Amino acid sequence: MDKLDTKIIELAEKYRDYTAENLSKLVKIKSLSTEEKEVQLELKRQMEEAGFDEVWIDGLGNVIGRIGKGKKILAIDGHMDTVDMGALDNWNFDPLGGEIKDGFVHGRGTVDQEGGPAAFVTSGKILNELGFDKDLTIYFIGSVMEEDCDGLCWKYLIEEEGIKPDWVISTEPTNLGVYRGHRGRMEMHVSFTGVSAHGSAPERGKNAIYMASKAALEIEKLNERLKYDDFLGKGSITISEFVSESPSLCAVADFARLHLDRRLTWGETKESAVKEIENIVAKLGGKVKVLDYSEKAYTGLEYGMEKYYPTWKLPEEHELVQTGVKTFNNLFGTKPKVDKWTFSTNAVTITGIYGIPTIGFGPGNELLAHAPNEKVMIDDLVKASAFYAAFVYELKT
Ligand SMILES: [Zn+2]
Repeated sequence: MDKLDTKIIELAEKYRDYTAENLSKLVKIKSLSTEEKEVQLELKRQMEEAGFDEVWIDGLGNVIGRIGKGKKILAIDGHMDTVDMGALDNWNFDPLGGEIKDGFVHGRGTVDQEGGPAAFVTSGKILNELGFDKDLTIYFIGSVMEEDCDGLCWKYLIEEEGIKPDWVISTEPTNLGVYRGHRGRMEMHVSFTGVSAHGSAPERGKNAIYMASKAALEIEKLNERLKYDDFLGKGSITISEFVSESPSLCAVADFARLHLDRRLTWGETKESAVKEIENIVAKLGGKVKVLDYSEKAYTGLEYGMEKYYPTWKLPEEHELVQTGVKTFNNLFGTKPKVDKWTFSTNAVTITGIYGIPTIGFGPGNELLAHAPNEKVMIDDLVKASAFYAAFVYELKT
């Protein structure tokens, strides 16, 4: 290990309690999507206290902290909204307690994913202490609304806030592996309009439930023949909701709608996925629609996008992936696991739409995301804070 890496590890260790306590403070503030105001003010305070060059909150409510002022731009992203607690009976501790005990920080959001931001605040503090002066701008971003609409915050950052990084690190949980992709996804409605008639004489009408049911059985078969990718796995489709309407419970149903959850592997796009469904429902008279997301952010701004989240991956030999591998190897003396996420992240827009290369590196085990008894190892937080700081130096600008 060279001198700089040794120093970075030393500082990350020195700030072990500071990192854990910062995370505990964030976890104690409930922060569901579109309700992140208080947690964002706390993150901003932490960045200011850590000595970031500049910290501000944009129109959608993302917190942006800057260190350095170079031509090339690296962004380190972590979303600050969390999902709800679920049934409290399933928890062995208070999900909003932020308890620090037995080498873990406990509570909702520790893994998914306020642990990442807590670690990057410390890495900013480390960079300051090292007198960072490389020709590079680093934006540390605590983003919003990811759990409701992954990537929306980055559409805003790029298109409205004018932040266009050359590279991004996502701090979503990777168990300290270097991740380089995940499947995309999209949501569609398929609607069927029938003709109502008295329930005593169904032959006079056209039942929309039968039309939708025939389509549903074809969609079940479609799932079996979707594409497969060696790295990302198989594309998939499932029906998550079936809605119908009828003028009375003694009448032929004249409307039915399926809600489709489609996961897209490599080579599958919005166009190809819509076409597959159209081929199934055309003869049944069904209409396919890709859904839109639009919500009011906590700032009051209404903002949205289509619910199409493109698939993305970087090749293993990509410079950014290899910089991650090298950084890890230098710091910890072993090769990291290079892998993919099962779930979706903000990289659907960052890489999937805007083509900016992203890698993932974050504290915590993905298996605990959205689950009861969520907790993160403080060792993971310490290692992540060292990694982000060392990565900045390792990156070839
Ligand atoms: Zn997440």
